[in-house]
Amino acid sequence: MSELLHPLTEAILAEAPVNAQRVVFLFFAALPLWLFSTVLFDVVHWSLHWMARSPWRLLRFLGGLHQAHHEFFGADLQTHGDYRFRNMVLHIVPEFGPQVLFSFALMLCSLQLGMATLALQTLIFVRIVLQGGNDAYHRPIDVLTAYPRRWLGTARYHALHHLYPHSYFSAYVLVFDRLLGTACDLEARRFGVVGGQSDFGREVALAIGRSSVHPVVDLDSAPSLDALKRIDVLMLLDTAEGPLSQSRWLDGCRTLSQERKRPLEVWLAVPEHSHEWNGLVSKWALASGVIFRSFELPSGPQPLAPEIAAQRTLSLARRDRSGFLLNGNSARLAARFDQLIGR
Ligand SMILES: [Zn+2]
Ligand SMILES: [Zn+2]
Repeated sequence: MSELLHPLTEAILAEAPVNAQRVVFLFFAALPLWLFSTVLFDVVHWSLHWMARSPWRLLRFLGGLHQAHHEFFGADLQTHGDYRFRNMVLHIVPEFGPQVLFSFALMLCSLQLGMATLALQTLIFVRIVLQGGNDAYHRPIDVLTAYPRRWLGTARYHALHHLYPHSYFSAYVLVFDRLLGTACDLEARRFGVVGGQSDFGREVALAIGRSSVHPVVDLDSAPSLDALKRIDVLMLLDTAEGPLSQSRWLDGCRTLSQERKRPLEVWLAVPEHSHEWNGLVSKWALASGVIFRSFELPSGPQPLAPEIAAQRTLSLARRDRSGFLLNGNSARLAARFDQLIGR
């Protein structure tokens, strides 16, 4: 393997004469390296939020400096010009710092590649400074629609970090969030549960209750579509039809999503013994401004204990695990999803 890679690494790292062809080559080689260097700031970003909640005053102070960024672009997803300068000094410059360090380290392997990566980082940094911090990720958003699931970040994904600052730390590549389990917020969102009377449903509701600061809304005892206005995530946890069918709940969500300014989510999770599909797959869909996720847990010789099944469901949610992306163009998958939810 190393013999196979050797000509490739040599071609990339060799300090060939710089001509127009070499510049184009270096630019394309620097692009993935720049993306990788942004992940370093994702780690710093997470650390700053972690420090802000520390019992130690010094750490709280250091972590609190990042608050300037959240004051500049608030949870209302609007720009607050009074904080522009503080955002520049306390967020944009520190975001650039880890990238520069990465390029300097890279120069030890290849001066040209390190310089090319630094040039790209500097270009992007200068552009953000010239935009006064209002880069593509930080422009006012009145209605935030569901984000398309990709490995690369989007403005809609980053907006979720400003709405729920304890999650969604990844900026340009979502590796950090998906590995660390911060790709979905359980803490600040309001959950409503249908099918919470089963053992599995009870465990899921309990686990959500432990993670969220809001009490879980029991939609079984008051099955009304109006109750959807009080929640951010609808969880359907039983295939058995209640007073309102799953189709009615989903239609209610689709209708309500037209009025909402923040995306609504629907999670379909059922324990393995009532599910015919095998494999550790969660399916994720996006339609009519609603994010759908469905979770399927692995089947084995023994059914999973409800408590374990509940923990795994939330773990899949936190890591944004999905089997496929469903959108308006994907009629075949849409039909399959509709079949799953019994439409
Ligand atoms: Zn931001
Ligand atoms: Zn932040």
